[in-house]
Amino acid sequence: MQNFNYHQHTYRCGHADLNMTDEDYIQEYVKMGFKQIAFTDHCPEKNRIDKRQNMRMEYQEKDDYLNSIKYLKEKYADKIKIESGYEIEYLPGEEENLRELKDETDKIILGQHFVYDDNKNLKIICLNRTQKFTDIELNRYAEYIVKAMEFDIIDIVAHPDIFMYARNEFGNIERKISNMICKSAEKYNIPLEINLNDIFKNTYYENRKINNLPIEQQRNKLRNVIYPCKEFWEVVSNYNIKVLYGIDVHHRGQIQLFNELVQMANEVIGSKTIAKLNLIEKEI
Ligand SMILES: [Zn+2]
Ligand SMILES: [Zn+2]
Repeated sequence: MQNFNYHQHTYRCGHADLNMTDEDYIQEYVKMGFKQIAFTDHCPEKNRIDKRQNMRMEYQEKDDYLNSIKYLKEKYADKIKIESGYEIEYLPGEEENLRELKDETDKIILGQHFVYDDNKNLKIICLNRTQKFTDIELNRYAEYIVKAMEFDIIDIVAHPDIFMYARNEFGNIERKISNMICKSAEKYNIPLEINLNDIFKNTYYENRKINNLPIEQQRNKLRNVIYPCKEFWEVVSNYNIKVLYGIDVHHRGQIQLFNELVQMANEVIGSKTIAKLNLIEKEI
């Protein structure tokens, strides 16, 4: 079983558990036997482009964030390897600002939550499924991911299949852009993440409160899960791409439920595809 996680948020983004300190999370990881983790909170923006509230830390909070990680890194050195990082979005014109974030941290994960529309407004992938991408915007989504890989600013692509929140079904265009993403991931040797957050939010955290129902009773809620998207991972399985799980932690319970969430992700994707995927066992 994977004993590392490179997708960890903090209270600073405004939508993770506000009562959890950075150290609280580390203690939970140590209890669960994890050997390496990276804090990859939603990055601050030097040019404020994403105007939503409670999505990411302010630019002034950056130093506190990095200092806290540095402190924990040393304090827990004999128990768990701790790295710094950010979850970023790629946008054309922001390359230099993104490179700055990369240069000051250990790991950058790409969580592409939006693209520019034709009028250079942000078209956001909304998790209430209200806003859909046009074919052009979907194509742009894949282009941005490819660009981020080409520019050498990312270590992992988080939830590459999140675009399904902005589409109604997995058809030819979805298949085409999935292949675009996979071709580049293979070429640049960048791992893709099977993200466990949508499963958590549809099962144990349904209605925004952790329930303790047994896994058998969680399973029938999996039909509402949008990612991982079975068809997307079938495409991935035809390539030589490294794959890893990302817990996308915003709550303590996600760390505690890691094994159950992985089990359900494998069930969503299907055992045949899982067997073909190149799931990495060693830390990167
Ligand atoms: Zn988040
Ligand atoms: Zn995340």
